[in-house]
Amino acid sequence: MGSPTDCQVAIIGAGPAGSAAAILLASRGREVILIDAGIFPRSKLCAGLLTAKTIDCLRNELGLNVKSMQAGGIIYHRLHAFRIYHRRRLLARDRLETPFHLADRRSYDAYLLRAAGRAGAGIITGQKVTRIDPGRGIIRTAGGKTIRSQVIIAADGIWSKARKIVLQAGRKNQLAWRRNLALALESRAPGFGATPVPFYAGLHLGYLEWGYGWSFPSPRQRLVGICGLASRHHGRLGVKFRQMLADLGIDHRLAGLPAAWPLPYGNYLSRPWHLRLLLAGDACGLADPLLGEGIYYAHKSGLLAARAVLAAGSFPLDCGPIYQRFYSSQLISNLRWIKLARNFLFGLGAMGPLALERFMARHGLLVQRAVHGQIPFRSLFGAWLAGCWKIRDK
Ligand SMILES: Cc1cc2nc3c(=O)[nH]c(=O)nc-3n(C[C@H](O)[C@H](O)[C@H](O)COP(=O)(O)OP(=O)(O)OC[C@H]3O[C@@H](n4cnc5c(N)ncnc54)[C@H](O)[C@@H]3O)c2cc1C
Repeated sequence: MGSPTDCQVAIIGAGPAGSAAAILLASRGREVILIDAGIFPRSKLCAGLLTAKTIDCLRNELGLNVKSMQAGGIIYHRLHAFRIYHRRRLLARDRLETPFHLADRRSYDAYLLRAAGRAGAGIITGQKVTRIDPGRGIIRTAGGKTIRSQVIIAADGIWSKARKIVLQAGRKNQLAWRRNLALALESRAPGFGATPVPFYAGLHLGYLEWGYGWSFPSPRQRLVGICGLASRHHGRLGVKFRQMLADLGIDHRLAGLPAAWPLPYGNYLSRPWHLRLLLAGDACGLADPLLGEGIYYAHKSGLLAARAVLAAGSFPLDCGPIYQRFYSSQLISNLRWIKLARNFLFGLGAMGPLALERFMARHGLLVQRAVHGQIPFRSLFGAWLAGCWKIRDK
């Protein structure tokens, strides 16, 4: 084993969470090492839908040139309309006030990694981290490297090794965490060129009691997927996915075998740190518990972890409590409302689609803005309550 490499911040995982943290810290002059098990460009199963808050984060918080990402095909398409279906029944349709963007995760993640390198971060790829010492800030890789740092940011995704350390330290149960884990299946059907396909982002309900399907068309491909709480839909996902494809008129042989991957679905940790170790992104369960959006939460949590490091100055043990404050107020407060909306919608059972149809007819624009992050999610509850009062007063 060679002598340890020293740095101020070691970041495990170069997905959207880890690279965002590395870009901010390196651009502020911190000595950063960003380490990933993969060799880039590497694949990541993801539909790549970016909302306005993600585009804003890329542009204004990470200082990236979104236009050049579009010109380079990294962000390859825009969707200007949406439709929500319950099986074959249309519940809502409209133009989008602000479009959704679609990103190709292979080139997106590689682009962010290069940006971290340009900002001054040391990059190590193809090295899997196998040991983490949160007390001394030391990590070891399967290839025999040792890195010693003041703070470790672990953005090592859904199978995070670091999360186990944090859960054990808080005497939290891994099984409880898994209960709110979703499993997703995704296929790529041919794009606009092959068969006439719709131009809108499709949200497809009614196949899973606690989950949803999506369809994102583009000239390149039509991404179709389904995602639901694994604890409730164990083993039935494939059958439901085929039903959804049939309703969409997609020949499942053309879509090919779906790929499967888990994603967090309401199992965000309330305390995402232990000693010198801070968790970000999927590692601490940060994805929208209604629509599964994770890229924004990965970027944002990586940035907040980086901001905590910058704010703590030369006191690395202060990073955890500072990160906790940022994390609770800027991420968890909104995610709690989204989870409440999810529980409300799916908890209503057969009445859920009807309630959604009515709500979208009245407040569709507010829903769009909440999804894009332009207004907080809790304002949807305000609109709903105001509607209830009006009915009562009539
Ligand atoms: C089917 C599907 C569709 C999705 N669609 C969308 C979507 O349309 N929009 C959206 O916003 N979100 C979507 N998501 C969620 C999104 O993909 C994730 O939330 C996001 O990738 C999380 O980013 P991250 O940086 O936390 O982790 P990841 O992107 O998973 O990156 C983790 C990195 O850590 C590395 N790593 C892991 N372990 C180690 C180790 N021991 N040592 C070194 N490196 C390690 C991995 O190689 C990887 O590069 C989808 C997810 C799925 C499964």
